[in-house]
Amino acid sequence: MRLILLGAPGAGKGTVAKLLTKMDGSVQISTGDILRGAVRAGSDLGKEAEGYMTRGDLVPDDLIMGIMEQRLQEPDCENGFLLDGFPRTIPQAEALKAMLAKLGIALDMAVDIDVPRDVILDRLTTRRTCSNPDCQEIYNVKTMPPKQEGICDKCGSPVIQRDDETEAAISKRLDTYNEKTAPLVGFYEKEGLLLSVNATSSEAVISGVKERLAG
Ligand code: AMP
Repeated sequence: MRLILLGAPGAGKGTVAKLLTKMDGSVQISTGDILRGAVRAGSDLGKEAEGYMTRGDLVPDDLIMGIMEQRLQEPDCENGFLLDGFPRTIPQAEALKAMLAKLGIALDMAVDIDVPRDVILDRLTTRRTCSNPDCQEIYNVKTMPPKQEGICDKCGSPVIQRDDETEAAISKRLDTYNEKTAPLVGFYEKEGLLLSVNATSSEAVISGVKERLAG
């Protein structure tokens, strides 16, 4: 399948993407993960992106499009892809449309996962992530803590709070989402690709996607 996952930070895009990849071997592409990898590696891309990310701002569109143009042409995308956190602005959506047309690739749908702001705020402030770049397992101190406090169940590395998951950065990220990314819902509605799901459970989102793919 070839899907775009829309939704505010904390709406569950990453969780839904991971579950969907198990269905048909489509690959999850998270621009946030790619950028965090670049920051850790200290690459030019990482150096340029870091300040925007820590403030909760978006990284400039041309940097993101450079990453995605390469990534979508890698062989693992042939079985399908789930775009998690991209596009984030109307210019990115327009550029993606042109890029996919050039590559002869059609999207199946854009899924908007709509979760109330208070649920999101609660989820993000309590979210913890495995610090091992090859693992990045996600935990929640309230609902899904690691078995041993602060230690990843899967790989034993420390489990940490992301720099951009402090209350101030989260609030900024949500404002940025409403201003820059929420208009994409209208964009994909016009394209006839939108599936809106009002759901706080990832299973409900998956059922909606399966139904639409089957229909
Ligand atoms: P995420 O993990 O998707 O919430 O992304 C973390 C941060 O990376 C965001 O707050 C942005 O600073 C940056 N980022 C990720 N994806 C994009 C994108 N498509 N466009 C611009 N910035 C992005």
